[in-house]
Amino acid sequence: MQLPRQQSVERHSTRGCGMRAAVVPAFGKPLTFEQRDVPQPGPHQVLVRIESSGLCHTDIHAAAGDWPIKPSPPFVPGHEGVGVVEAKGEDVRSVGIGDRVAIPWLGEACGRCDHCVSGRETLCLFQKNSGYAIDGAYTEYALAHGSYVVPVPDGVDPMDAAPLSCAGVTTYKALKVAEVGPASRVLVSGIGGLGHLALQYARIFGAETVAVDVTDAKLDLARELGADHVVDARTEDVAARVQELGGADAAIGVAVSNAAFEAAYGALRRGGRLVLVALPPDGRIELPVFDMVLGGKSVIGSIVGTREDLAEVFRLHRRGQTRVIRETRRLEDVNTCFEDVLGGKVSARLVFDLR
Ligand code: NAD
Ligand code: ZN
Ligand code: ZN
Repeated sequence: MQLPRQQSVERHSTRGCGMRAAVVPAFGKPLTFEQRDVPQPGPHQVLVRIESSGLCHTDIHAAAGDWPIKPSPPFVPGHEGVGVVEAKGEDVRSVGIGDRVAIPWLGEACGRCDHCVSGRETLCLFQKNSGYAIDGAYTEYALAHGSYVVPVPDGVDPMDAAPLSCAGVTTYKALKVAEVGPASRVLVSGIGGLGHLALQYARIFGAETVAVDVTDAKLDLARELGADHVVDARTEDVAARVQELGGADAAIGVAVSNAAFEAAYGALRRGGRLVLVALPPDGRIELPVFDMVLGGKSVIGSIVGTREDLAEVFRLHRRGQTRVIRETRRLEDVNTCFEDVLGGKVSARLVFDLR
């Protein structure tokens, strides 16, 4: 016998039934605010009371409709959501009421395809992405798939956990994809939300690091985070400077710029790997085939990370291995926040505090 939906949902507490959500009404328009009913989780879903929600540059691309595959406005952006499970559907086994969880970009995947069953779930063709295909975390309450939220361990501040849920896991994965080791020289192109963590993971892997950016504040941040070499792409020829050091074994492209990708390619030594992570609108790069073939160089795309990668990122942070550089803002100020990110005015990551 099928129970009516209400009876099959376990709930922690009953709050008021309304919530605020920031919504993209149409591409290129300022976000608006809607008062909505707090939704009920379906059988596989959890209802998460959001505490913190990071602003990833991807949210800006999503709201602008920058990419070939587009979300459908109106939608709620946000895929760095962290909060507490307030209610859950009857089929949710992996998390319980009261647990703190992260809602990452990989909102759900099929769990059955060759990618899903071989540890490459982020390549699943049937995935749905949070804050893109499904409503995300720029809200007080969000629904998420109970098997795809990732537990946030005690001892990890929710304000740090939010940026780790995308900026952290994405760059940690990119360094794995780049096969970085203790004798590697790693270039990080763009020391923003993603890049400031990429730099720290490169150091955790034991590599010599080269940080590249175009603002004084980000170059200072790179020095403070221990970069071995800091290159100002406004005034220096990045490729030439890094070739003088012997070239990069790996370059992590997290600057939203085709020119930055090409400069990072030019910085590779023979056998080097350029990992493309940023997604500039109309992103494309021109590659010199002769140099690439004779030099045995690779260019690899890398998309976020798996649930297990994120669990590792949280463990590293709990052990004090990473520092999240962030500023907290109010969700009401989201439109100014977008402008501040685009204007290069934020220290690294903005996080909305919804507590
Ligand atoms: P951000 O705006 O916080 O950081 C970008 C940084 O690049 C800034 O510090 C900026 O000063 C710097 N920069 C700009 N031009 C540069 C240049 N020519 N050379 C060097 N540095 C330059 O953005 P973010 O949130 O870190 O996201 C970066 C990109 O990564 C976005 O396109 C986003 O959509 C993408 N992204 C991809 C994935 C993935 O899984 N592949 C995941 C998250 C984000
Ligand atoms: Zn992101
Ligand atoms: Zn799949």
